[in-house]
Amino acid sequence: QSGYRSSDRIYYSKRPPVRIPQASGLDVTSFLLAPQFGDKKAIVDAPTGRCLTFSQLERDVRMLAAGLYRDLGVRQYDVVMLLSSNCIEFLVVFLAVLSLGAVVTTMNPVNTAAEIRKQMQDSGTKFIFTTATLLEKVAGTDKPVVVFGNDDVVPGSRSNATHRFSELLRADLNDLPRVHVTQDSTAALLYSSGTTGTSKGVTITHRNIISATCMISSLLLPDQILLLVLPMFHIFGLVFGTFCPIFMGMTMIVLPRYDLVKMLTAIQTYRATYLPLVPPIVVSLAKQDLVLKYDLSSLKHTYCAAAPLGKETVDACVERFPNVKFQQGYGLTESTCSGTTSPSDDIVDMAAHFGSAGTLNPNMEAMVVDPATNQPMPPTKQGELWIRGPSCIMKGYHNNPKATSETVDKDGWLHTGDLVLIDRDGYLFVLDRLKELIKYNTNQVTPAELEALLLSHPAVLDCAVIPYPDERAGQIPMAYIVRVPGHEYFNEGEVMRWVKKQVAPYKKVRKVSFINAIPKSAAGKILRRELVQLATTKSRL
Ligand code: AMP
Repeated sequence: QSGYRSSDRIYYSKRPPVRIPQASGLDVTSFLLAPQFGDKKAIVDAPTGRCLTFSQLERDVRMLAAGLYRDLGVRQYDVVMLLSSNCIEFLVVFLAVLSLGAVVTTMNPVNTAAEIRKQMQDSGTKFIFTTATLLEKVAGTDKPVVVFGNDDVVPGSRSNATHRFSELLRADLNDLPRVHVTQDSTAALLYSSGTTGTSKGVTITHRNIISATCMISSLLLPDQILLLVLPMFHIFGLVFGTFCPIFMGMTMIVLPRYDLVKMLTAIQTYRATYLPLVPPIVVSLAKQDLVLKYDLSSLKHTYCAAAPLGKETVDACVERFPNVKFQQGYGLTESTCSGTTSPSDDIVDMAAHFGSAGTLNPNMEAMVVDPATNQPMPPTKQGELWIRGPSCIMKGYHNNPKATSETVDKDGWLHTGDLVLIDRDGYLFVLDRLKELIKYNTNQVTPAELEALLLSHPAVLDCAVIPYPDERAGQIPMAYIVRVPGHEYFNEGEVMRWVKKQVAPYKKVRKVSFINAIPKSAAGKILRRELVQLATTKSRL
């Protein structure tokens, strides 16, 4: 559990400390692809059954790295965008790029072409890897585009694809350059809004990934068959769902994206034993009758994180699956996924703490800080969660020193923007968010981005976007709008239709209210919590 030191009001992990490799020249690819698992299946594509063993995975990663270097011209520090749903190639490309000291930036495939262009620009993307179905989203780019997956296409046949993955993979290993990648080099730019403002590139180093993988893996059970339905482009699916199982020599079964029937079928077909989840999937497992039609008897263990999940839902799920261990956890992109985890060994202890996100991961520390005074608070008191870990906290936000220094202080504490309490046994309860982030079905929606879009409409004088509670999605984006007088035609339906045309589906405004003025602080900051209160009290009346 977590211990508490009253002298400095710091919580520390009571889990046995984990050894983290310190060699400065260790890169993520060499760290993950240790040779001992050889002919064991590493990764299986659930829809087709296609798979790579650990040795084949290593061979493909090294061959692709040689091809990227020789034929595509990828060099150290170059940024490569990976625009794809989950598949074997996602992992192969990721590790090949990292082995060259180049950097991966991931992207949710449902984003619009404009959203993708924006991230390309912000991250300094030089190369794009995608699938044929997503190719049109990067049409018109002047960057080299590589197409991979089952739908590999011939270059130039109908698109701007300049290279075929399968050809790059045929490169000669003699072309593999010797690149000196240090643990402190940047490995990935994963986009997150942080506590305020628009989406920012979270700079994750090789050391961040290596540390988080060591810490989180120490909490997982070995020899599992893990089914991944969570996106690899997000930190939870990437570190917890992909890197940890590879590091531990588990077999991963991969679905391109979550779909209830496909998930149930895959559990049954592949006899999956381990299933990382997010709250909306747990709700389906607990409530949908369809679930009972499948043989899920292989399932031994689930793990849910990324958004709040109440005790009632966990209880309902466990009632249906009494033999499945149910763990919960908490983490952020900025902490490379590491944070807290509930116990996995003692089933009574586990059940007693359903609804909590668990206790500190090994080597981690925490403080709960009064947001008004920055004073650390004792157990059971509410405050903002600050966490610190051995090298799992991000290097910073890409090209944004101001946001970085507002989020990670000089003592290394990451100010999470989450309102929490830690009980006397060290269990974390996430109560609310102080930061502006909205999570729709665990996808990040940044109010600032939707506000900027709405303000560009001639009928909008002012606006604010807030999280509105929703049983199914967790939260939905709701817009408060001050209309320019005489523009009453811009009603709720119009607002929603207009926004929908321009953003990824998860960012859609799903509720609108009109107001005379947006409440603001003296400094002009939107008083979002006041609006949330207004919206929720109104709905109760
Ligand atoms: P992301 O960087 O997308 O993983 O988002 C991190 C944020 O997700 C955290 O700061 C929390 O607001 C939220 N979050 C993650 N895990 C949990 C959890 N177990 N309970 C409640 N909120 C969570």
